[in-house]
Amino acid sequence: MWNMDFVIPSLLVLSVLLVFYFARPRIPNRINKAFLTLIITDIAAIVTDLLSTYADNHYRDFSVPLLSVLNMAFFVAFFARVLAFFRLTMKLPKVGASGFTWNKLLSYTVFLVCEVMVVTSPFTGAVYTADAAGYHRGPLYWILPACSFFYLALGIFQLVRYRKKVRRSVLISAFGYHAILIIGNTIRILFPQYLVMNVFCLLAILVIFLAFENPDLYITDRGPAFNTRALTDWLDDPMHRKGNRILGFAIRNYNDKRSMYGGIQMDQGLGLIISYLVRQFPQCLVFYVRGGNFALAGADETDWDRIRKEISERFQKSWQAEGVDLYLNVTYVEIGLTARALSSDRIVNMLIYALDEAGESADIEQTLMPAETLEEFNRQIEIKRWLDKAIENDAVEVFLQPINESRTGKTAAAEALARIRDGEGKMIPPGLFIPIAEKNGNINQLGEQVLRKVCAFIRDHDLHSSGLRWINVNLSPIQCMHSHLPVLFSSILKEYGISADQIHLEITKESMINYSKQEKQIADLHQCGFQLALDDYGSGFSNLHQVKKYSFSHIKLDMKIVWDYIRDRDSLLPALVQAFRQMGFSITAEGIENREMAEAMADIGCDYLQGYYFSKPVPMKDFAEKYLQG
Ligand code: C2E
Ligand code: MG
Ligand code: MG
Repeated sequence: MWNMDFVIPSLLVLSVLLVFYFARPRIPNRINKAFLTLIITDIAAIVTDLLSTYADNHYRDFSVPLLSVLNMAFFVAFFARVLAFFRLTMKLPKVGASGFTWNKLLSYTVFLVCEVMVVTSPFTGAVYTADAAGYHRGPLYWILPACSFFYLALGIFQLVRYRKKVRRSVLISAFGYHAILIIGNTIRILFPQYLVMNVFCLLAILVIFLAFENPDLYITDRGPAFNTRALTDWLDDPMHRKGNRILGFAIRNYNDKRSMYGGIQMDQGLGLIISYLVRQFPQCLVFYVRGGNFALAGADETDWDRIRKEISERFQKSWQAEGVDLYLNVTYVEIGLTARALSSDRIVNMLIYALDEAGESADIEQTLMPAETLEEFNRQIEIKRWLDKAIENDAVEVFLQPINESRTGKTAAAEALARIRDGEGKMIPPGLFIPIAEKNGNINQLGEQVLRKVCAFIRDHDLHSSGLRWINVNLSPIQCMHSHLPVLFSSILKEYGISADQIHLEITKESMINYSKQEKQIADLHQCGFQLALDDYGSGFSNLHQVKKYSFSHIKLDMKIVWDYIRDRDSLLPALVQAFRQMGFSITAEGIENREMAEAMADIGCDYLQGYYFSKPVPMKDFAEKYLQG
């Protein structure tokens, strides 16, 4: 006699789970489809298990063919469920479908062989037989547990193999449900009369549901839109890349709007926008990315122009939240998905990057993300990687470029210039990585590393006897924002036993426009004994007043105005240089590439000259060999 106590509660729990699952929006991705198949096969297995068990218990009331068919149905569903678990596991790693071809072949073959053996059993008696005396196991009944263990083992093997390509929490749960199924199968062998397998399958399904199939994990808390995790998973399916498009749009100046209207009101507004999008564009999947950024995904054939127009028109009206009318503008971004084989994380990051940029850009017109921007984005990501690595490993290199005194023609100082390398050892110019470091805050560590290396260089070499009086270190405006900078720099100098007059700090003019509070910072650095140079004078917005206001002692003329002067020698630059000199500044001309330039700049009164004519920036070791005695 079979015991069915476990089966009915399993069916009830599964029903609750199903109602919950279907009541929420779900993204049509590969895992979800596999999960749905699993649930269907599980229900089929439970129902056929119930029916066949009942029939086996009351075999006298059933005809032999019906008894046989009911048992066959259970076996068929049993194997289908085993395969469904395995197929779901195979969807977890983020690898293209092609990686699994042999695997697919193997798994379907085993499945088919088992099913054929079951279906032919009424004739062969291999797996089971049914006759007037009821149901009996056949000699090959063992293929049931064997097949289960085969798929579990293969599943674990694949999980281990592709462990790097599965989200960690998902991987742990996947091992978890495999363990549950192994225990279930073992108990089934030991106590066959209890029909416990359904309970263990249900437990496994619950683990899957809670770990990564709960639709709530993929919905934003702002409304019924999907979140970035859902977008990443959707993009993981190579099928979705083909023939689909993403239209992103960003609320312009989202953060300003948020502080203007209030957080609660804005959150309500986001909810309204999401509901509008979901209602208005049922043909698209609606994603809320973050910070006022949205994305719609749908087929290429969709009338995207109309969608864009409709959204724009809707945004011309206000969104009514908590008694406030929110007036918001949007900017669009479009990303092609087929352009190249980018990872889903990369595409999502790119979208976020593009949307953030679009939301802040001055260009009110729609922004399409052209191929160059994608290239640029990828390049930026790579550089950021090398930068992080260099900073972490203390591998930022410092090159030195000599600065010559025009009066004596001798090298009087040097400028320290940071360098990092990519994976192949090729140099990445600072023009590329400094802006990234400034954006993500790494510039502080980078600047400190450069200063430390310069200090160590000064400590380890006798600059003085070679006529070198100081080394210039560049300071980013972002570094200047830190109020502890003067103290930090002074303590670093102390650590290396260097006096502050051996270091000059170069600051570019941008820092002067945006952050007037740096006036004090610069004065403090000056107080600590550092001499300050205004870098790249003339390369943009620079005025005399600004220069006077700060505690600079030196001005470095940007190479562009030097070159302009060489090309067209008017009297403006000489007059400017004279004026600066009278105000007590020393002047350095950058970008000196030949003798003519050196002479011309010395003639108009520049005190120092720097440029490729004297030397390109060189590694510290080479600099020491070339310019320092002993
Ligand atoms: P900068 O401070 O104005 O440095 C001078 C730049 O001009 C250097 O470029 C140098 O290699 C280049 N240069 C020097 N002489 C000539 C010449 O005769 N002809 C030409 N065409 N170029 C010349 P580099 O090393 O690529 O640095 C670019 C910028 O990156 C620097 O401009 C500076 O603003 C920034 N930077 C470099 N190192 C650091 C650093 O450690 N910290 C910070 N915050 N910025 C740095
Ligand atoms: Mg400089
Ligand atoms: Mg400069």
